[in-house]
Amino acid sequence: MALKSDTILLPIQEMPTSWYNVLPDLPTPLDPPLNPGTRQPIGPEALSAIFPMALIEQEVSTERWIAIPPEVLEVYSTWRPTPLIRATRWEKALETPARIFYKYEGTSPAGSHKPNTAVAQAYYNKKAGIKRLATETGAGQWGSALSFGCCKFGLACTVYMVKISYEQKPYRRSLMHVWGAEVYPSPSDRTNAGRAILAKDPECLGSLGIAISEAVEDAATNDGVNYSLGSVLNHVLLHQTIVGQEVEKQLKMAGLEPNIIIGCCGGGSNFGGLILPFLADRLEGKPIRFLGVEPTACPSMTRGKFEYDFGDTIGMTPLLKMYTLGHAFVPPGIHAGGLRYHGMAPIISRLVADKIVEPMACCQNDVFAASVEFARTEGITPAPESGHAVKVARDEALRCKREKKAETIVVGLSGHGFFDMGAYDAFFAGKLEDIEYQPS
Ligand SMILES: *Cc1c(COP(=O)(O)O)cnc(C)c1O
Repeated sequence: MALKSDTILLPIQEMPTSWYNVLPDLPTPLDPPLNPGTRQPIGPEALSAIFPMALIEQEVSTERWIAIPPEVLEVYSTWRPTPLIRATRWEKALETPARIFYKYEGTSPAGSHKPNTAVAQAYYNKKAGIKRLATETGAGQWGSALSFGCCKFGLACTVYMVKISYEQKPYRRSLMHVWGAEVYPSPSDRTNAGRAILAKDPECLGSLGIAISEAVEDAATNDGVNYSLGSVLNHVLLHQTIVGQEVEKQLKMAGLEPNIIIGCCGGGSNFGGLILPFLADRLEGKPIRFLGVEPTACPSMTRGKFEYDFGDTIGMTPLLKMYTLGHAFVPPGIHAGGLRYHGMAPIISRLVADKIVEPMACCQNDVFAASVEFARTEGITPAPESGHAVKVARDEALRCKREKKAETIVVGLSGHGFFDMGAYDAFFAGKLEDIEYQPS
């Protein structure tokens, strides 16, 4: 069935049945993760204390296509395929000749793209005989997604939630409780990592890096417990490629090819999932721009260094080659909690270094102004994280207007903002601070 390009909703019936693994297609191969002691590449055994073998294999796989297990497809089918929607009213308000489409991942049970990997990770851990997963969460999006995934496959779930979000976003915590998880504010007194940080700074607001240290310690020191990460790693981006593959099919129905694909970047998973299926087109010479948007308060790609660093704050993980602000960097308490991470996925970092991804940074007030405009025209209230992509899509649409170009823009609307309404209230009250990164 062919649809005209002015169709508002681009529905597809069938989900992709494989994930796309970009590793064999990267123009420059990734630098391997290193053992921090020896600085030699780590082997699979270094990860087997906290991850199931199936995910470790996916992390380094050279297979281009990895079949999605039927049990995972069955859970996905409760909300996938997700819609690709043309933002006709927003286009009109902006008076832009550009076509703006948004891929809306807020229809998942947890309200974001994160269940795409949470369900897969819970499945592989269950199959490996694991009883409980430990994880960190920033704004609570990942914690709620993993709670949902664990609930689906009968696993227990422990979530270390960054303290500022635990206090700012109590209803995400409630959602985790609904799906049966235990939730602790991080830094907590349950781990050596948390206790060490509290001893230095009892008022510490926490960060993703600290919460990761706590969850990794929990998994590494308890039998039958594994760790689960919601972003950054290759296998997480792999699971998210279902998003970009759907966009490919949906645009094809409309007879369109994207000129610009925009996503917000915390650890890089929703952005990776969106763009990686289009990488081959770009490498074959098609003029597709990939814009990755981060907060000015935590600008790993635009202000960080491309070097080996720890994934967590304490220094328990292998070293990853990535754009990083340094593992000790504790980002300020901006409302886009999911973007408060010191590093960036090695895959996305590599593409930034190779000048295939264009990184950019936005500040909070511009993000919320664009998000309110989007909500008032399109109806959907973006998550503060997704608002970063909305802001840049707006800039690009206005550029198209100035240049009189009918470009096709795809925006990753990674989630809805229903649990972030306090942030919108703060914006309306003029209480949002625009925070610039201060190198230490
Ligand atoms: C967690 C989150 C992000 C940031 O994580 P990535 O791994 O960079 O995608 C973005 N948007 C939403 C809605 C999130 O929950």
